[in-house]
Amino acid sequence: MVDQSGKLTVQDMKTVQDWIARIGLPAGLGCPLCGESSWTVGESLLQPLAVAATGKKQRSTVGTAHVMMTSKKCGYTFFLNAAIVGLVRP
Ligand SMILES: [Zn+2]
Repeated sequence: MVDQSGKLTVQDMKTVQDWIARIGLPAGLGCPLCGESSWTVGESLLQPLAVAATGKKQRSTVGTAHVMMTSKKCGYTFFLNAAIVGLVRP
């Protein structure tokens, strides 16, 4: 899990890389925008929040932690569920 500063630890980064290798993402997976195959793993977990309608306002509820993969060339980003990757408990 993340350290006290909110950053993924060296072990967390290894967990992500091991997971990617284990599921067999295609070597050289190309970015859908720029085509380059150079990705970086985000340093922190992010948590998109579910939104519940409460009449006048939208209210944030619980969310699910994700790890971010970003194209080094263009910034295109996709997210992996951190529980499935093994960084947090489901
Ligand atoms: Zn790209």
